[in-house]
Amino acid sequence: MSAQVHFVGAGPGAADLITLRGRHLLRNADIVIFAGSLVDRKLVECHASTALIYDSAGMTLGEVIEVIMDAVASGKSVVRLHTGDPSIYGAIQEQMEALDELGVEYAVVPGVTSAFAAAAALKQELTLPEVSQTVIFTRMEGRTPVPEAEQLHKIAALGATLVIYLSVSMIEDVVEQLLRGAYTPETAAAIVSKASWEDEQILRGCLADIVHKVHEAGIDRQALIIVGDVLAARREGLKAKSMLYDGSFAHGFRGIVT
Ligand code: SAH
Repeated sequence: MSAQVHFVGAGPGAADLITLRGRHLLRNADIVIFAGSLVDRKLVECHASTALIYDSAGMTLGEVIEVIMDAVASGKSVVRLHTGDPSIYGAIQEQMEALDELGVEYAVVPGVTSAFAAAAALKQELTLPEVSQTVIFTRMEGRTPVPEAEQLHKIAALGATLVIYLSVSMIEDVVEQLLRGAYTPETAAAIVSKASWEDEQILRGCLADIVHKVHEAGIDRQALIIVGDVLAARREGLKAKSMLYDGSFAHGFRGIVT
């Protein structure tokens, strides 16, 4: 029997960036509980026109679980809609554990995380050969603690491409921590606010001027900080080509092109 309860990633914001599976589930849902602080109500209403809709912004974990349990008891289908992909800062684990304890089946449907919507907005590959082959999704410590080994200044030692969630309101601290690692004031940085929304905003700069640009634009939430040399590769004319499409590089689907 397929699950009655689905955790669904809504994608970064635009209504057509949800998966087909997610849209199908929303269309057929009796109950939708969505994270109103980050998911646009219009997206929910557009895809789930017949469902009873709850905004979880003002609800406790216990209340969310109660709504799910009541729905399950009366044979209804529930979609718990999270922004982006539910596995990234989605707080779904605690909900899944509560359902495990109550013996309720559920399934998870992935979504486009905002990191990828931001890369698309920037028209930027995050992994360029010889520049960076590693992307780190992370955050500054806020009210939610971050393990000691993952403090931003320690992660910064690697010099990889960074996508920093939940931290734009602490941009000064972010820059201070990054400069303690492998990054310099000249390292390229970008801010993407509300990626894929109508009022999306992009700021490009470097660690030396990004704080000023963020303050000037008045961005203090729903934005990602992206940092790393990949952002400057195009500007600096670094011809970082992948091996995959190089004629002298044979692989399983193609011999050497002469
Ligand atoms: N699960 C979500 C992240 C939730 S945490 C995801 O996969 O994207 C909330 C943080 O995500 C925000 O503080 C912001 O850093 C980022 N975020 C969410 N949506 C965004 C968007 N459309 N544009 C830029 N950043 C976004």
